[in-house]
Amino acid sequence: MEKIDGKNLKHTLTPEEIITAEGREITLCACVHKIKKSGGFYFVLLRTGRYVYQTVYRAGKCKGDFAALCEGAYISVSGTVKKEERAPYGFEIELTDFEILSKPKSECPFDISASHLGVSIETSMEHRFAALRNPEERAAFKICEGVTTAFSSFMQKNGFTEIHTPKLTTLNMEDKKHAFRLKYFGETAYLAQSPQLYKQAAVAFFERVFEVGSAYRADKHNSTRHLNEFISLDFEMAYAAGLHEIMAVITAFLKHAIKYLNKNYQNELQILGVTLPEIKTIPCITFNEALEILCKPKKQPDLDPTDEVKICKWAREKFKTGLIFIEKFPQKKRPFYVMGSKGNPKLTETFDLIFDGKEIASGSLRLHDYDELTVKIKRMGIDEAQYAPYLDMFLCGMPPHGGAAIGLERLVMQLLGLDDIRQATLFPRDLHHITP
Ligand code: ATP
Repeated sequence: MEKIDGKNLKHTLTPEEIITAEGREITLCACVHKIKKSGGFYFVLLRTGRYVYQTVYRAGKCKGDFAALCEGAYISVSGTVKKEERAPYGFEIELTDFEILSKPKSECPFDISASHLGVSIETSMEHRFAALRNPEERAAFKICEGVTTAFSSFMQKNGFTEIHTPKLTTLNMEDKKHAFRLKYFGETAYLAQSPQLYKQAAVAFFERVFEVGSAYRADKHNSTRHLNEFISLDFEMAYAAGLHEIMAVITAFLKHAIKYLNKNYQNELQILGVTLPEIKTIPCITFNEALEILCKPKKQPDLDPTDEVKICKWAREKFKTGLIFIEKFPQKKRPFYVMGSKGNPKLTETFDLIFDGKEIASGSLRLHDYDELTVKIKRMGIDEAQYAPYLDMFLCGMPPHGGAAIGLERLVMQLLGLDDIRQATLFPRDLHHITP
């Protein structure tokens, strides 16, 4: 009997590790990305989970059967590391042997090794399993990983507890018409549109919580910025003194995320040709100020997508940043939030964060008083019984609190200047796609 001690775990060598092995032989498992003939030898580009390495095959120096090698094959190689300024990461590997582990059944529908795939998002989605092998196509998802890692580490450092809330639920605060409904052992359940109720409940016992989880919206959107399933970076905090304290958390997180990405994801940023924005401060204006800037009538209940584009252009010209907070929206579209105590009482303690023309986050101070909530629910003519389980948490007492949700794919889309949110979604779920 063997005992598993969990020690000496292997991983694919990084460029930094390989370069330190200059002059020595290393072994590597990878996919044959591209085979290129050059004079009397071949370049065999090998794609690992993150990098593409240049190896060189010379007949007589390598024991492997070159005729059996093909693009798309997964192989195990051994070779000697040589400094080579012209190669990616400044080295190449002179192959001494290889073994084919697995071969593809057919060719990929497009040239995976191209620096740009050059296909539409529709084609990329149709052949998703193939397209994601292209280093540029997959790079956005390493950035997604960087953002979620940065979010978790930032939140933990700031005293937030990570929670995982159910996505199958009967509690749904948002409009049920826009929720996916399903049968749950004879009962009607919904896919959670957001973790809001649960994260609110959790501030009563953890004070500060965060979650990285899926959110579902059944809207029949046909836009480049909406998905039917997306990842929501949520946080909720007790004792928030005001909206600006919540905005400060988002601003600090974004600064942290950009620093973290610049430090750890240069490989992907270079592949994508992206320089991340520098954030020092984010301007904040009220909804009414935004309407004035846009020369719009005061009656408008919300900003539309073209307003969001214009207001960010204005912010760029005035403050040299594409990010802007807009606060204190009218009650009509945001009925469940704290009303502005000072100034106009009809305005809510809510905000959106717009980034180069697209909303990437929204937040608010929530109502926490049982009586206030029940009055509001009655006034809105909502069936009270439906909210009974939700109201239970307020019966037991709740601290004043507020929070926000940041859309992961929207944030990454805007950080990377992508045209379509699907380019920041591994396997998008939208009006036309439930597969693959
Ligand atoms: P929008 O007005 O853009 O449709 P929303 O007001 O419905 O968004 P919220 O419910 O406030 O958005 O959700 C918080 C965040 O989640 C948004 O700022 C956005 O980043 C993200 N988000 C919301 N809906 C979607 C969606 N359908 N697809 C992708 N991300 C979304």
